[in-house]
Amino acid sequence: MTTTRTMRTTHSKHSNRRLTASLAATATATTLLLTACGESEPEAAPADTTNTTSAEETSAPAEVEPGEGVTALTGDDTAPQDGGSENFTGDVSVRMLFNDEEDSAVKPGEVSFDPGARTNWHTHPAGQRLLITDGAGWVQEEGGERIDVAAGDVVWFEPGVRHWHGAQNDQAMTHIAIAEAVDGSDVDWQDPVTDEQYEENS
Ligand code: MN
Repeated sequence: MTTTRTMRTTHSKHSNRRLTASLAATATATTLLLTACGESEPEAAPADTTNTTSAEETSAPAEVEPGEGVTALTGDDTAPQDGGSENFTGDVSVRMLFNDEEDSAVKPGEVSFDPGARTNWHTHPAGQRLLITDGAGWVQEEGGERIDVAAGDVVWFEPGVRHWHGAQNDQAMTHIAIAEAVDGSDVDWQDPVTDEQYEENS
């Protein structure tokens, strides 16, 4: 199995179907999240209402009062936060797109990298998809070629593949990152990407 997916692979019908399914699943999760939000104040995370694991649960009608089935997260709910230096090099901001207090297996984040900024090396137990929404960046699997990505591109990292992603050295980049959690975690952070590793194109 090929563990590095270039941008071209996302243009195949097969991959497009996978993306469509993924986005559909995300939309379903969003609906469930927003529905759950309507049952109580956002500050009080409802128990056992969002962690659906079966098709039966997913398709079950939501039990909410009429007019309380939709909640919009705005402003402070999704305010950008400093990515910090523990898991990133350079200036990085992270905007969590789902309410952090909700018990969802998927918690997408919008991550913006200044030029030269990048993640540490890391892996994802269930893989990860990146939707590049602005600018230009680089992504690289350990032992693989560094790949140029730009707004509109979609990236898939296989589960357990050690990799990094970030901006190019002279351009900023923003992506939405989507990864499913396994046993409560969707990422295993490791060591920083050195300047030499970041700059080399091999
Ligand atoms: Mn990643």
